[in-house]
Amino acid sequence: MSQSFKLLAREEFKDKVFARDNYKCLVCGEPAVDAHHILERDLFDDDGFYLENGASVCNACHIRAEMTLITVEELRALAGIKVPALPAGIYSTDVVDKWGNYILPNGTRMRGPLFYDDGCQKILGKAGLLDSFSERVKYPQTKHLPISPGRSKDDGIIADLSQLVGHECVASEKGDGENWTMYRGPGNCHARSLDGRDHWTRSSAKQFHAGIEGDIPEGWRVSTENMFAMHSIYYPQTPLLWGLSIWNERNVSLPYDETLEWFNLLNITPAPLLWRGVFTMKIAEELAASLDVEKQEGFVVRRVDEIPYSMFGKRLAKWVRSGHVQTDDHWMHGEVKKNGIIYP
Ligand SMILES: [Zn+2]
Ligand SMILES: [Zn+2]
Repeated sequence: MSQSFKLLAREEFKDKVFARDNYKCLVCGEPAVDAHHILERDLFDDDGFYLENGASVCNACHIRAEMTLITVEELRALAGIKVPALPAGIYSTDVVDKWGNYILPNGTRMRGPLFYDDGCQKILGKAGLLDSFSERVKYPQTKHLPISPGRSKDDGIIADLSQLVGHECVASEKGDGENWTMYRGPGNCHARSLDGRDHWTRSSAKQFHAGIEGDIPEGWRVSTENMFAMHSIYYPQTPLLWGLSIWNERNVSLPYDETLEWFNLLNITPAPLLWRGVFTMKIAEELAASLDVEKQEGFVVRRVDEIPYSMFGKRLAKWVRSGHVQTDDHWMHGEVKKNGIIYP
């Protein structure tokens, strides 16, 4: 969470939000009953009791806000919030509902980190919105280990290491490519940005998808790194795709060993494995020291057992070399250099 917002205690939150809104429901003007979290508190590492995440509401309007029938943007506008408090991994340019589900320009939604939580399911079911969800899911933000030198201010740092330290984990090399997700069905694949824009650097990955999509189970998705184009690091010899994770129809990332079996079946090379064992921060330091940061961006450590989407920020973390240029889209606009791709 950015430093410019003040985290409040629960009662203080209610007092300050009510005072700002003159003790009236922002939507209808009736007396305020609740201080609503504009973005659900569970999306935050710190419960999100920020004045810039609060809105005074009456009972009736509160229910509509929870049902996402009143949007996050509407509440912020009514409250006069120009710079909202956001959880790590959600950016000011993202359009999301209260539960952190992404809202696409055509109105369909993508399951966010809390989609499968009971509260979210119940309330969105009541609102009749569960049908408006696409099966496409944005690859979640990977949080940095506290010792990761490459962290930028937008990327969160893993706050609680208890889901990693002391547990059996694997560390894989982090590839400097473009996130590439594949589903069952012709053309059912996309880059991280989900824009579906056609770019020649994506045609090899699309072609690969065409060959395997029929083997992906319904409702599953396969997350990979598309290594076709050079971003900041040149790879003289790399497979086209590095396998990252496989998600089932419940939005759970399969255990590591099962993931490897599926990659084998789908003819995908997993991201290079660097280490496996019981994770400690000393191991993380040793792994970091063992990298050749001229040629390797960093590593990703994950639990070997399953990772539900909502646990992604706790059971997986990355270490990124210092000064690494975070390429999102801009690499496409300049002259693109191709990596040395080896085809099996
Ligand atoms: Zn609420
Ligand atoms: Zn109201």
